[in-house]
Amino acid sequence: MPEQAQIMVDKILQLEVFHELAKREINLTGGEPSQNPHIVEIFKIFRKLTPNVRIHTNLDISSEKSQRWQRLVEIMKFSGRVDFTLYPTVWESRQKPLLVKILGLQKELIVNMIFEKVSDLLSQIETLITFFGEREKKFQSVLSLLGIYRAKLESLLGENPECSERAFLKHMEGVENYICTDNFTFGLNMIPGFYVDKNGVRAMNSQPFPKDFNLLECTIPRGTIEIITVQQTGEITPCCDVGNLKCQPKFGNLLMDSPAEIMSQLEVSRKKMVSGALKNIQNMNSGKAGEWVEEGIPPYCV
Ligand code: SF4
Repeated sequence: MPEQAQIMVDKILQLEVFHELAKREINLTGGEPSQNPHIVEIFKIFRKLTPNVRIHTNLDISSEKSQRWQRLVEIMKFSGRVDFTLYPTVWESRQKPLLVKILGLQKELIVNMIFEKVSDLLSQIETLITFFGEREKKFQSVLSLLGIYRAKLESLLGENPECSERAFLKHMEGVENYICTDNFTFGLNMIPGFYVDKNGVRAMNSQPFPKDFNLLECTIPRGTIEIITVQQTGEITPCCDVGNLKCQPKFGNLLMDSPAEIMSQLEVSRKKMVSGALKNIQNMNSGKAGEWVEEGIPPYCV
């Protein structure tokens, strides 16, 4: 609700560490934010903190007459940026016609792509190549970026079609995921899905828990907060954990707690993360990798 958004903004203004983060960028996600009848008003309230307020939509919208679409248009007219997640099943019928409209209303775009296998990702890249290939010349740089991805992915599929996440990241090392020209800024956000094989091992996964050997370097014990998530309830979770990582130390509640209470909770949680990260390293060195520590941080956070 707008009233809650206003309370959050007022509180953020009193919390220097959060205010600095908010000035960089605010992402309004969901659920599906375009379904919120108050989203335009909420957007305007958060715009008081930064010009960089982004809305993430699934763009699974049936027509331009839909109120959901009208809300997105209004936000774009106020210089908000709409980003979307490509869903191949609704691409042709719903997303594609509206993306044409979006490109007429904003000069930036991030496309999220969720994939379980490299072949899924390649297929989505090809969908975008076809789409931008039919557009004006100003999208030439977008096509160049997508072409690099297509070539890389094709060679990876040829060499190692069932590659692990590690092999994938190694192969893609150094490839930029955005392009910026005078006319247009375009970014790709590739999110590996949660494919689990019959032995319970994730071949490609975005969150390295609980079985993967990837480590997540937590910035908080190192004294920096780079990202926080505020849920609709006001609960503040560290990093981008919206509940999936099950990180227990929290930063308080932006709606209910005073700035002083939030700062004190933040310090308590930071100490837990420092101690938990040390114990995680000890566990990994003593054959107990994957065990949860009493501080409640995920076992591969270090
Ligand atoms: S401990 Fe892990 S999940 Fe928790 S904030 Fe740090 S990186 Fe995120």
